[in-house]
Amino acid sequence: MFKKTLMSLVAVTMLTGTVFADKLADVKKAGVLKAGVKYDFKPFGFVNDKNKVVGFDIDLLRYIAKDLGVKVKFQQVTSKTRIPLVAGGQIDIAAASMTHKVMRDDTIDFTISYFFDGQSMLVRADERTRTAKGFAGKKVGAIQGATSGENFKKASPKAKIIYFQEYPQAVMALRKGKIDAVTTDLVWCSTQANDSKGKLKVTGGTISFEPYGMGIAENESNFRDAVNIAIQKSVKDGYYAKSYKKWFGTNPKVIPEVWP
Ligand code: GLU
Repeated sequence: MFKKTLMSLVAVTMLTGTVFADKLADVKKAGVLKAGVKYDFKPFGFVNDKNKVVGFDIDLLRYIAKDLGVKVKFQQVTSKTRIPLVAGGQIDIAAASMTHKVMRDDTIDFTISYFFDGQSMLVRADERTRTAKGFAGKKVGAIQGATSGENFKKASPKAKIIYFQEYPQAVMALRKGKIDAVTTDLVWCSTQANDSKGKLKVTGGTISFEPYGMGIAENESNFRDAVNIAIQKSVKDGYYAKSYKKWFGTNPKVIPEVWP
């Protein structure tokens, strides 16, 4: 009898625990939004010369945290770790240059898309190849956990994809001549080229569509609504455009949807 009561108590606790789990309430109660960001993906998330983590993703997260009435605590993620960290609950949100792919929706949920890019190629300044197909037989660097390796394989099946853990390692290999290109989103490629003092350039246009969404835990509708509405508020009050101009040097070409 005692065992039975205990079992049903455990069952009820588990059930109510599941029913009443609410990420938004948890974040507000903790007073902190645990946010995963890139440290090596300029200008979305990177460490600046003052050793501060800055970028477009960071700006948006600061705005969202303020709108939720909580502090924000940043934690480094990579292309490979961001989804497991969201799914495992170690972070509440990842704004980390992450493309909203239908396949990724199996593991986590996404906010509305807040940035729109496409995949390109970063090469040394003397590279003559101009198309993805032209890299057949050549070594192309991609990052583990990113969309880029798979996309490139489709666009150029005969290219040899070399995987790296993080972006700086891939850039180093490119500079040293160990690989012939690094492939990932255009804005990152252009930023690297600009910062390289003529050593690197972008080639090949874009081979994919990469709409960025922030990753959040599955089935947290209140939290997702609150974050989506905060992103939209930033668009309405001009914060989004101001930050966009600061990091990308232009006015936004496509802005996130704003619900009436
Ligand atoms: N946006 C792409 C992705 O989500 C590439 C950039 C990145 O590695 O974050 O995989």
